[in-house]
Amino acid sequence: MVLTQAVETRTDSALFELSEEARDMREATREFAEKRIFPNAEEWDAKSEIPEEIIRELQELGYFSMLTPEEYGGLGLSMLAYAVVIEELSAGSAGLGITVSVNNSLVIEAINLFSGDEVKKKYLPKISEGWIGAYCLSEPGAGTDILSISTTAVREGDHYVLNGSKLWVTNAGFSDLFIVFAKTDKEAGRKGMSAFVVERKSEGLTLGKPENKLGIRCSDTREVNFVDVKVPGENLMGAEGDGFKTAVGILNGGRIGVGAQAVGIGMAALDASIKYSKERRQFNQPIANFQAIQFKLAQMATRLEAARLMVYRAAALKDQGVAHHREASMAKLFASQAANYIANEGVQIHGGYGYIKEYAVERYFRDARITEIYEGTSEAQQMVISRDLLKDRRAESSRADN
Ligand SMILES: Cc1cc2nc3c(=O)[nH]c(=O)nc-3n(C[C@H](O)[C@H](O)[C@H](O)COP(=O)(O)OP(=O)(O)OC[C@H]3O[C@@H](n4cnc5c(N)ncnc54)[C@H](O)[C@@H]3O)c2cc1C
Repeated sequence: MVLTQAVETRTDSALFELSEEARDMREATREFAEKRIFPNAEEWDAKSEIPEEIIRELQELGYFSMLTPEEYGGLGLSMLAYAVVIEELSAGSAGLGITVSVNNSLVIEAINLFSGDEVKKKYLPKISEGWIGAYCLSEPGAGTDILSISTTAVREGDHYVLNGSKLWVTNAGFSDLFIVFAKTDKEAGRKGMSAFVVERKSEGLTLGKPENKLGIRCSDTREVNFVDVKVPGENLMGAEGDGFKTAVGILNGGRIGVGAQAVGIGMAALDASIKYSKERRQFNQPIANFQAIQFKLAQMATRLEAARLMVYRAAALKDQGVAHHREASMAKLFASQAANYIANEGVQIHGGYGYIKEYAVERYFRDARITEIYEGTSEAQQMVISRDLLKDRRAESSRADN
């Protein structure tokens, strides 16, 4: 029997009051998740796909355009409300959570924050009407070291010609457009990278097979290849040489999305563990009576709460237009580690049943792993945080400043 989720561990404290918008979105998303995601997530995981009808339904409800301003047909949500939604979706299915998150925090935000009006007007309404996007930065030889990408874009008259290969591109299989990072000047270091919007139908753009992954199996991940792909000059995002700034800037928001995904996985694993520990009987009593289990639950809940508050705070700082890269990295680092800890302890609480597919905690354990890897590994987050601490005079004292 697959246990359905008794959702018991959400935050609604007076000290960190969510906006009305965030609370409304949470209610609506929770309702959707309980009806449409929780009952089906195991099957999507087993089949390694999300049914198209679910994607279409979420598009119609605006989930694929949450961060698009209303003037371009989106919901124009705050980052905080968005983080709450990603948490709820990811509790149901982390693979679905990242599918939605990539389209919003990497694709839409890249266009919205780092493109001129022409690109925004051309593509944001299309996404609101049903186009889906993917983000192509990583390559076979370039992961953490993004400056070592070897994809090139050469200007020829009124267009650019792209050549290269991008690896592990989430959503690639059903995307209509791709945000692609390429070198426009190999000698110019940070100033030598540029970003482009490339349409799926472009000649010379081909896709690899879906990757066979450990977790988030229902999300689509593949290679995208570019052989002499012509891209109109107007699809350059910002100015030539702005690509590095765009890639780094976008990942700040993306990290809040992945942090929220991790909180969602942790929440689902904790809820499943609370429920199971009350049901499972050993030595003539529920295992919840044993202090060893109670202390595990206490540790799991404490880390979940801390992770959630860090993610919400980073999101709130972004909404206020305040520098938030350190907080976004801290939130992603802590939340991803917390999700792995919670899912691991969740399996332990379930004993042997936690190791078989009948119980969702096995999936949470597999799904949590990726949150420490993509959109900057845990090591990369520590590089961002420590670099910032050592250069920023704000950090000479570690007292809270707000
Ligand atoms: C399922 C999945 C989906 C993905 N989706 C996307 C996507 O949509 N778009 C996209 O562009 N990419 C995507 N990625 C790629 C992902 O962002 C990269 O895997 C990630 O950035 C790490 O790069 P890498 O795998 O090349 O590891 P590497 O950079 O080779 O790192 C290997 C190890 O070395 C460590 N390391 C590297 N450099 C340092 C250093 N200077 N100091 C200390 N340690 C270091 C890393 O932390 C890691 O532990 C996805 C990956 C996966 C698995």
